[in-house]
Amino acid sequence: MKFAIPRETHPGEKRVAMIPGDVKKLTAKGVEIHIEAGLGETIKVTDALYEEAGAKVASDRNALLSDADVVLRLRKPAVDELSELKKGCLHVSYLDPFNEKELLEAFRAADISAISMELIPRTTRAQKMDALSSQANLAGYVTVVLAADRLDKALPMMMTPAGTLSPARVFIIGAGVAGLQAIATAKRLGARVEAFDVRPEAAEQIESVGGKAVKIDIGVTESTKDGYAKQLTPEQLEMQRKGMAKICSNADIVITTAQVFGRKAPVIVTADMVEGMTPGSVIVDMAVEGGGNVEGSKVDEEVDVGGVNIIGLGNLPGRVAVHASQMYSANLYNLVDEFWDEEAKTFNLNLEDEIIQGCLVTHGGEVVNEKLKGTE
Ligand code: NAD
Repeated sequence: MKFAIPRETHPGEKRVAMIPGDVKKLTAKGVEIHIEAGLGETIKVTDALYEEAGAKVASDRNALLSDADVVLRLRKPAVDELSELKKGCLHVSYLDPFNEKELLEAFRAADISAISMELIPRTTRAQKMDALSSQANLAGYVTVVLAADRLDKALPMMMTPAGTLSPARVFIIGAGVAGLQAIATAKRLGARVEAFDVRPEAAEQIESVGGKAVKIDIGVTESTKDGYAKQLTPEQLEMQRKGMAKICSNADIVITTAQVFGRKAPVIVTADMVEGMTPGSVIVDMAVEGGGNVEGSKVDEEVDVGGVNIIGLGNLPGRVAVHASQMYSANLYNLVDEFWDEEAKTFNLNLEDEIIQGCLVTHGGEVVNEKLKGTE
């Protein structure tokens, strides 16, 4: 069974799908891995290191893809690249399946079995394959490092003969995987950290990483069985905004990480709230690529609104590409390892398995995923 790992083609993407350490572990199990020449260039890993790990290096991308039984990559493929793949092959990557109708249809029409890494279920067994979490964790870290760099103040309290500096105030909205890592990172840098999440159970998690959980009464909120927040009503969002305006106005840094899985991110920090903030303060909108939590934020830009710097830079995990690649690679390794049939030396796409049922989107010329059926 031939596995192919092509280079990432998205402009500016530095992460790679698999690092040599995981190639080595897979080839040791009898997985035949072919990589595109230059795969690791962006993270300074040479082809020779992949070869040492047991991979074959191909310089012809089309040839590499056209006879692969399994394709592993990070970003979704271009629609026109699918026609080059073998009918019936397995393709594993992020797919943004709720928004990529055309791509989904192309996978279906080309009879390719596509696994969407976004849809790996959030179960204990699948945790080691959960790329959303592994990347969100690093993204959360990066939000704080970016904000600290842009802020013209130090984060920790300093008591010196020249006077006392009070700690910077950081407010984190959304305390999921990324938000919790942001709280922990800001705390480690000595800031005074407050955070809010609509899921009531998040309060305890906020406190456990050293943040102060802000209480805003917005009535009953719910989570899905996968632990994702459900969408708030417009009234609840308004109550939330009112409750937050004062905290934002006192904050040096506001970081928003609030997403609702598969839907547009809610607008939480409005233009009024930005206006109420002190010039020189910084906002990082981590949800910018999903529609944005902050009014006025722009994808891949930093905008100055009345002296407040709104950072909307995308692909935050890509800023720590070595570690992000290491984690994504481990997620892919764990997925292959879980379903690798040692005797037959094949990937066992077990349609009865709940992990496969959760993340497989197309198979046998059909859209097979329950979450996507009816959305095509
Ligand atoms: P996410 O990226 O979908 O959202 C980030 C956070 O934003 C969430 O905590 C969400 O509650 C919050 N949010 C949504 N709307 C908001 C609003 N209007 N105001 C404030 N906050 C808002 O979520 P995530 O980080 O991927 O994870 C969500 C939950 O799932 C967490 O509890 C996490 O621990 C859990 N989880 C479980 C597993 C597992 O069991 N294997 C794996 C990963 C995550």
